[in-house]
Amino acid sequence: MKRITVTLIGLSFIGAFAANAQSKKPSGSSLDQKVDALIAKMTLEEKVGQMTQVEIGVVSKSNVPSNQIDSAKLADAIMKYHVGSILNVQGAAFTREHWHEIISAINTQATKTRLKIPVIYGIDAIHGENYTQGSTLFPQEIALAATFNRDLAHRQGEITAYEVRASYIPWNFSPVLDLGKSPLWPRIYETFGEDPYLGKTMGASIIRGYQGNDVGDKYHVAACMKHYLGYSYPMSGKDRTPAWIPDRYMREYFLPAFAEAVKAGAKTIMINSGEINGVPIHGSHYMLTDVLRGELHFDGVAVSDWQDIKYLHDRHHIAATQKDAIMIAVNAGVDMSMVPYDYTFYTYLLQLAKEGKVSMSRINQAVHRILKLKYETGLFEHPVGNPDDYPKYGSEEFRAASLQAATEAITLLKNTNGVLPLKKGIKVLVTGPTANSMRSLNGGWSYTWQGDVADQFAKGKNTILHAIEQKIGKGNVTYQPGAIFDKLQYLEDAVSAAKNADAIVLCLGETSYTENVGNIDDLNLPWAQTELTQALAKTGKPIILVLAEGRPRIVTDAESLSAATLMMYFDGNEGGDALASILFGDANPSGRLSITYPKYTNSLNNYYRKNLENGNPDDKHGYNPLYEFGTGLSYTTFSYSNLHLSSKTLNETGTLTATVDVKNTGSIEGKESVLLYTSQMYASISPDFKRLRAYDKISLKPGESKTVTFKITPKDLAFVNDASKTVTEAGEFKLMIGDQSANFNYVSKLVPSRTGRL
Ligand code: BGC
Repeated sequence: MKRITVTLIGLSFIGAFAANAQSKKPSGSSLDQKVDALIAKMTLEEKVGQMTQVEIGVVSKSNVPSNQIDSAKLADAIMKYHVGSILNVQGAAFTREHWHEIISAINTQATKTRLKIPVIYGIDAIHGENYTQGSTLFPQEIALAATFNRDLAHRQGEITAYEVRASYIPWNFSPVLDLGKSPLWPRIYETFGEDPYLGKTMGASIIRGYQGNDVGDKYHVAACMKHYLGYSYPMSGKDRTPAWIPDRYMREYFLPAFAEAVKAGAKTIMINSGEINGVPIHGSHYMLTDVLRGELHFDGVAVSDWQDIKYLHDRHHIAATQKDAIMIAVNAGVDMSMVPYDYTFYTYLLQLAKEGKVSMSRINQAVHRILKLKYETGLFEHPVGNPDDYPKYGSEEFRAASLQAATEAITLLKNTNGVLPLKKGIKVLVTGPTANSMRSLNGGWSYTWQGDVADQFAKGKNTILHAIEQKIGKGNVTYQPGAIFDKLQYLEDAVSAAKNADAIVLCLGETSYTENVGNIDDLNLPWAQTELTQALAKTGKPIILVLAEGRPRIVTDAESLSAATLMMYFDGNEGGDALASILFGDANPSGRLSITYPKYTNSLNNYYRKNLENGNPDDKHGYNPLYEFGTGLSYTTFSYSNLHLSSKTLNETGTLTATVDVKNTGSIEGKESVLLYTSQMYASISPDFKRLRAYDKISLKPGESKTVTFKITPKDLAFVNDASKTVTEAGEFKLMIGDQSANFNYVSKLVPSRTGRL
């Protein structure tokens, strides 16, 4: 395991930071000139050092894993190896004061170098600021996507950036833009779910929130889109195992989120640790240069993932030596190596440059990108922020934003006979392994890499149990765990408590994990949790099933026994409060599934299946989920009517306007995500059954009606054809919103229909 868990130990102040005053931050071509002028003064050693990123343990005191900086090691890193970047934390969450000491020490050392180039620090604040105590933790991306609310993604980005900067860090390794196609993959909760359009729009929104209009101001950070490309779909489902993804599918499903993120101005990118079609991406010139630079026109920094250049030799065996691995990766297009534990990258790259095996122009190009990032993030002017600039850190205002996102994410999947909302006067049994756990609300990357000490650091926050107690009074709530994740625990006590309750809130799911630690051999929820459900069901009391989990574990047997089911994903620190408000009617659910919830382990199709997978659902060959992507109920009802298209034909330069009326036909106010899908009837490549092309979220009072308008252009209907070209082929389309649908024709001379070509 690469990171270790430790207790928190304070660090005495290392020394006052001496700012490296430079002139005002330039931009555009004058910035490029300024960077080039700096590069002209640099030695080869200084350049290669800039391309080196080490883990904080390398500059910390040994045997003291709270990362007290070791000044001799730090001097070595910066003066001798000219290290350009440091990352991460070893298994702890620091105070802001401790972060100030660390970043000050590092950049004070940097000011002692010949050219006074600051060191850029990077961390994974993937659902709010991770690794700092008292930060605001938000829903994980899969939950955020379920809100179908771009504004919430933008706000989450802004607040996270504020709190990362409040920790004196200018670079965030987020967002994950991998497509969450397979529930087997342990990092699916870090993604925006299975849909390419939802993923690319939410991704671009959070990036805009992170970076703002000026990534160099004190409240914004550089984003890092990751993990480029195809990381999320290994054949085995296990993290960092081989994938087979044809180029056409890569471009159709996996690339769009990155292309959109480049357009949104993302400053950096992290490379996929895996191999695809036998080619490790860290060694792929095609992916890292031809596609990323040549087609997407990305001009920011490409950083490797953890130790991955070494793995070209150790794991993938495409390089006979470590030195060859570095040659391959840098020549393919990696600008910075997350080495992270030693200086081998520095030493070998120096040799390779001297031997001419890596050209000076390639090194200058990488260094140019890195230095430009340092200028753009304002590091030359303010290598360390001012502690007093962040009064809103961990504030009530930020907590409210997290609570709103958490509330809008929770997805009501079943509500038999309107059993929800529950009445506040009733007696409730709260049970199940996720009922009293902050780990199960937050998932990985929460205070630490594995999120394993969330219960310690999120002390003031409410688990589901405590939130329900606060909502309806402790006297009305009984708690019995019933099971830990894979074992029954005091089952009889849970069953007898159920007999005395009016309703059972049964919280099943997972604990926190990420990366290989989260690999599983069986997508079924551990049997103990189903057994607990079955035993409770025998009491005849209504079961409100709450799923707190990072991926849709198969719960079919247990779920068949529930009166109501809510998916809450890893909903963040406010998830408990959000759920309690929904359960007792103080909030109206409005989340929709950002992933298909499968019914069987061998039926893991996405909603954008092919037509041939859409046969009779009973034949078990087709798409037969427990709940389809986009499912989500409300306590009110909405009706759709009057779908109108501005025309029955769309041409190459045209725009189709679709309008639909949505009415709240129930008795309480509610939010509704309005999803627009299209299907192409026939195309030269078998078209997907349907694809999400647009969405909007509206709020309606009882009886209120709104007209929702969408604009569709030919680009929105495009697909990647058998020549790997993105085209919109002429033909008939069906457009669907809610229960409404209408057909139109796309006419094109440029790309005529090819369906009659045989
Ligand atoms: C993960 C990345 C992360 C990096 C730095 C890697 O193991 O795959 O997502 O950014 O570590 O923590």
